[in-house]
Parts: sequence; C-alpha cells; structure tokens
Amino acid sequence: MYLKVTELFYSIQGESSYLGYPCSFVRLSGCNLRCRYCDTTYAYTEGKNYELEEIMRFIHSHKTKLVTITGGEPLLQEGVIPLADGLLKKGYTVLIETNGSLPIALLPRGVIRVMDIKCPGSGMTNFMYWENIHDLQPIDEVKFVISDRYDYQWAKNIITKYQLLKRCQVLFSPVFEQLDLRTLAEWILTDELEVRLQPQLHKFIWGGKRGK
Ligand code: SF4
Repeated sequence: MYLKVTELFYSIQGESSYLGYPCSFVRLSGCNLRCRYCDTTYAYTEGKNYELEEIMRFIHSHKTKLVTITGGEPLLQEGVIPLADGLLKKGYTVLIETNGSLPIALLPRGVIRVMDIKCPGSGMTNFMYWENIHDLQPIDEVKFVISDRYDYQWAKNIITKYQLLKRCQVLFSPVFEQLDLRTLAEWILTDELEVRLQPQLHKFIWGGKRGK
C-alpha cells in the first residue's frame, strides 16, 4: 500500500487544540477543492509515492507522539485509513485535517478529525458534505476560516443551526493577511461567542514557509 505524499516534515502544530506542540506532519497530495485563500496550492499535484512503511519510519524517527495528516485533502486517498489505524495502534495521537467535503465516518475511531466548514469567502461552501456534522465526536474539532464580517456572521448562524458548540470544539481562524486577528478577537468578545481563536501560529513563526 502506498500514498502520494507532497511532503513529510517535523514542525510546531500551528492550529487546533494541539497548537504549539512539536508534531510530525504527513502532507498528502491532491485536493478536490480550490479555496480562494489556499496557501498549499503546491499540494494539488506535486508529490511522490511512499510505501506505508516509509511514512511510518519517518514518523518513528522523531520523539513526538503527535502526528498530523493533512493536505491537500487527505480523505481522497484510501491509504489514509491504514496509515491512521497503524499510528493509533502504535500509541500516536492522530489529527486528520480535512476540508469537510468528503465523509469522515470512514476514519477509524480515535482519530481526531479537524474538519473545515467552508465559509462563503472560500468560494467552496456548496461542496460541503453536511452529513458529516452528525458524525462528529466530542474529540473532533470544527474550523471556520473567516475572510470578512460576512463570513463571521455566516459561521455564527451555522454554529446555531447545528448546535456545534454542544458537539465539539469550534475554531475560528482569520484568513492570513486578509482579516486582522485583533478584529476577529473583538467580534468574538463582543458577541461572547464560545469559540477558540486560532492565530495560525506556524505563519507567525515562519511566515508561511513551505515544510513548516
Ligand atoms: S481545501 Fe485546503 S488544500 Fe484544498 S483548496 Fe482549500 S485550502 Fe487549499
């Protein structure tokens, strides 16, 4: 079994509840969406095939027990299931970052799904697989990437409509260099919204450099 991988790297997790922890990353190739603000366009086609064992060897070569499988869109490749399963069996904490357009229910129990809900500013809202909301586990996290005030209001409505705060952790991230972190913080505080503000820490540390 092999997977097409854009890059394997070791860095600081810049998002989610695991923000700030050292983490091994597996960036899988290919994406079925084209978000306006996408910062990993190189993952659409770039990459080479790795055997499952080669990916495991890279992960074992670092001390961290935290692994993030990201993309592109990782659920496009069937091999993501045995990869996640193998890592869970070895005692790793496994995060899978998914764009929310494909069913998450197929992933092994115990994987932490960090699932985007694509706001209108992404241009991809129509591709959301809304049934996923009902498959969310309390350990999962839902992420809204906010471009502007319209996206913010839209995200608030979605949170209310699906009672998201009762289902799992909800993350709000501003589009980097488009919406000010402070502005988003002020909106959240004014509305007393119980969401977690995400700065995309890796971009503050390395300025969005590839492989970081
Ligand atoms: S889902 Fe992610 S990788 Fe795919 S286009 Fe959107 S931002 Fe880029």
